[in-house]
Formats: sequence, C-alpha cells, structure tokens
Amino acid sequence: MKERQTKSRLAIRELLVSAKQPLSATELIEALLRLGLAVNKTTVYRELEKLLKKNEISEVDFGEGQKRYELTHGDHHHHAVCTECRAVVELEIEGRLGDILSMVTKQSGFRIEKHLIEFFGVCEACQS
Ligand SMILES: [Zn+2]
Ligand SMILES: [Zn+2]
Repeated sequence: MKERQTKSRLAIRELLVSAKQPLSATELIEALLRLGLAVNKTTVYRELEKLLKKNEISEVDFGEGQKRYELTHGDHHHHAVCTECRAVVELEIEGRLGDILSMVTKQSGFRIEKHLIEFFGVCEACQS
C-alpha cells in the first residue's frame, strides 16, 4: 500500500513537471490510468494534499468548479486562460498588485491571506 502511494505521488509530480498548464485532479487521474497505474480518486486527492503541504505544488482556481494544480515555481503568480483552447500563460503582475492589496487592506481592515486573480480571454492562436 505504502509502495503504491509513493509510486503515484512520483507519477503525479512527473505529470505536473511535463504539463504545459495546470492540471485538474480528473485530468491527473485519467493520465495515471493511461500510464497503467491503478489509482482511485481518494489516493490522488491524498497525494495532492501531501504535495500541497510540502509546497511542491500549488493550487490554481480557474472558476471551473474544480481546482487545478501546478508545480510550485517562483513567487505567487497569475494566469491568462484561453476560453477556446484552454492555453495558459503565466503572468507577472505582482508589482502593481501590491498597490491593490494595500488598498484592499485599508478598505477592509482585513489581514489578507490569499487572493485569486486569473484572466480569461481568447489567445493569439485562437483569434486568427
Ligand atoms: Zn486559444
Ligand atoms: Zn502558474
């Protein structure tokens, strides 16, 4: 049992390394099954939870009703998502965002712990 969990965790990490964009648990499960690994939902969610805790992967939310996962790389960042082909582009907007966050803190009095800012539109390839 333990052996299999380790194997699926390695496989999940591998899949996220080679993925061009954040993957959902459903996509991960499909890919694992295609690799011939007998995984179930519970195992995959448990392994994702562990990878999240170790900060090896990060959650992203594109408002689809399910989270997506990507390898943790660099600082917290945002994405532009193509609504036609689901292409994902990584964005660096942290500088300006600092101003917005201090404005939010000022107006709400909250200690802001996280935010979700993703952008949706049609990528260059899909525009032509
Ligand atoms: Zn596109
Ligand atoms: Zn990203």
